[in-house]
Amino acid sequence: MRNLILLAVQGAGKGTLAKALKEKYGYEHISTGDLLRERALVGDELGMKIKNLIDNGIFVSNDIIFEAIEYKISQPECANGYILDGFPRNIEQAEGYSKILEKLNKDLGVVINMTIPEDLLVNRIIGRRMCKDCGAIHNIYSEQLKPLKEGICNKCGGALYQRDDDNEEAMKTRVETYFKVTAPIIDYYKEKNVLYEIDSSELEQTLRSVEEILKKLGDKID
Ligand code: AMP
Repeated sequence: MRNLILLAVQGAGKGTLAKALKEKYGYEHISTGDLLRERALVGDELGMKIKNLIDNGIFVSNDIIFEAIEYKISQPECANGYILDGFPRNIEQAEGYSKILEKLNKDLGVVINMTIPEDLLVNRIIGRRMCKDCGAIHNIYSEQLKPLKEGICNKCGGALYQRDDDNEEAMKTRVETYFKVTAPIIDYYKEKNVLYEIDSSELEQTLRSVEEILKKLGDKID
């Protein structure tokens, strides 16, 4: 399977789509946000610095990200196709990623640009609840993703929590940053002829749109 990059503003459903594709087709899901949150849990100086940046919706330095990505995509679990969720996030990261791929002799694959009407975003972010145990994403405002029992994961029964950066203040910073520094990489990938655009208002349809793109490209997707 070819590798995928999911591009979208926070709350557009990158994580939910990546998890659905992983479950159905076995892609490795690489969320730089998850990698960083894990690193922050170590609680050392670097961990606390990372947590502080994440909680305020501010980018972690490219060097830290490059190291994490290069290590992760070299692992055997990434050999049969992986999905990047939350990386690259600016032009330097897109260029740096191209160099990492060249060094490791790997293909870029396909870039999926997920669009969503802005009024849907607030509820997507403020309503998001994550499972502490399995990482499943729920949303208290979504019929499809609503927890069946308040505070409890539908998949594994673990406790749900709200991310510290899923508040209106950090969300504003993250959305502004997206349009200023992440959106320009859409053109970078358009020029490389690897960019596909889909509407991500609704999960089932979003998944079908990606499947159609991959089928057209000749991937074995049923
Ligand atoms: P996410 O889980 O993708 O919403 O990311 C949460 C936070 O982690 C972001 O607001 C950033 O602070 C940090 N982060 C995640 N991915 C990156 C990246 N590629 N570059 C810099 N910071 C990142």
